[in-house]
Amino acid sequence: MRKNIRQNWQASWDHSSKGKQVKKLFDKVDERRVLRDFYLNQIIKGHGAFKNYENRFFGKSPWFFCGKDEGTVEHNILKCDEWQDIRDT
Ligand SMILES: [Zn+2]
Repeated sequence: MRKNIRQNWQASWDHSSKGKQVKKLFDKVDERRVLRDFYLNQIIKGHGAFKNYENRFFGKSPWFFCGKDEGTVEHNILKCDEWQDIRDT
């Protein structure tokens, strides 16, 4: 039964147009990844206090404070030069 549920969940996930941000990180479903951490879920889903999200829903500027790119999760966490010292440590 568990295998059947997971297969149905995977098929639904594969054919859904939702969750594009999450699909970039996880293409396979896994119940061990169902997280209940508010902040981590914001990062994984790309929802919350990110400039591109606030732009889509509230019409705010999509640009990150550095002015070099949009405030996406990827830019915030992985690319922005402003956070390089923190990433290095
Ligand atoms: Zn930046």
